[in-house]
Amino acid sequence: MGIISFEEAYETVMNSAFSVGGETVPFTGSLNRILEDSVTSDTDLPPFNRATVDGYACRREDLGNELDILEIIPAGKTPSETVRENQCSKIMTGAVVPEGADTVFMVEDSEITVSGRVRFTGSFTKENISLRGEDIKSGDTVLIKGTLIKPQDIAIMATVGCARVRVSRKIRIAVISSGDELVEPSEKPGPEYIRNSNAYQLMAQIDKTGAAGKYFGIVRDNEEETLKILKEALYDSDLVIITGGVSMGDFDFVPSVMERANIKILFSRVRVQPGKPTTFGVHSNALVFGLPGNPVSSFVQFELLVRPLLYKMMGHDYKPLVLPLQMRRVFSRKAADRMGWIPVRTTDEGNVEPVVYHGSGHIASLAETDGLVALQIGKHKIEKGEVVSVRFL
Ligand code: AMP
Ligand code: MG
Repeated sequence: MGIISFEEAYETVMNSAFSVGGETVPFTGSLNRILEDSVTSDTDLPPFNRATVDGYACRREDLGNELDILEIIPAGKTPSETVRENQCSKIMTGAVVPEGADTVFMVEDSEITVSGRVRFTGSFTKENISLRGEDIKSGDTVLIKGTLIKPQDIAIMATVGCARVRVSRKIRIAVISSGDELVEPSEKPGPEYIRNSNAYQLMAQIDKTGAAGKYFGIVRDNEEETLKILKEALYDSDLVIITGGVSMGDFDFVPSVMERANIKILFSRVRVQPGKPTTFGVHSNALVFGLPGNPVSSFVQFELLVRPLLYKMMGHDYKPLVLPLQMRRVFSRKAADRMGWIPVRTTDEGNVEPVVYHGSGHIASLAETDGLVALQIGKHKIEKGEVVSVRFL
């Protein structure tokens, strides 16, 4: 199988998406999930004419006069008096504006007269009333299907009484690390070993996308062992991600093992850097990624291919934030036979610069990376001052 372009790889992955269906959850547990049904309001918002300041509710035409105080209206209480000529009621923020009043002037703009009445001392006042239904009418859609639920959306659900909400089911993702040289993070590696960072990076990326990762451990560079764990992982997953073992080395068994596990490989080489050996296949149970072992490659290809796929499967139209920004320094590369993704950071001057980056094994470079800039095939250089599209992470 030949090498394909990054765009073709992206299309292939996105065209393999299947829908995972929904489930109903308490709204408090829906953060970062994708809304499966639109949410409508069961009430007008505000539900009544509401005072937006602490002050006195009166008729605008009486603002120049001394006013009798009828009652005090706290939030959460129904007013008992109608406000008439030269009358007012003292009112608190969030309380129901009484009948007859069209204006609430602020306590700060008032004084009590010797006769115990109140006077407006300002020169101008707004109405300071939010009218019933001015934000939302009963029956209006407040959140649309496909929304990625944010903390503010949780507040909107609370406001309209949506205590249980229909969201996309969590995509079940199996994560496998492969490599004879790997030890787990809590261990002190011997001189020829390195710590497994990919599995934990992937689990965190999965978590951030609102999917359910399950870690299957480290598998050694051994065909039979890899086949066994891959079959186990396929059993009850929607997606399997295995990192390492996809390059051209003598012990890179993952693609051949994928075929033995009845996974149809759709591509195994992409004209992209980092991430050339990225492998993708389909199985009757699940989709399967073989991501490169280098942690930057694994990170970047998850962001570029896996995250958009997951969102599509959950019914969300994912649009990463992309902004045109000036490069503060020149960037150049020798080989330009692959599309490149350059890690950059924003500066205090509001432009971007490449981070110090030694290659796809240099995971520490991602600590200061804010986004990625794409370099098309054939492009060797980004000039200082050139405007680039920064895809924020
Ligand atoms: P591979 O794709 O197996 O050829 O691995 C490429 C590079 O990534 C090698 O230097 C590996 O040691 C490294 N690597 C592979 N798996 C991991 C992992 N889980 N965590 C960190 N580095 C890894
Ligand atoms: Mg390896």
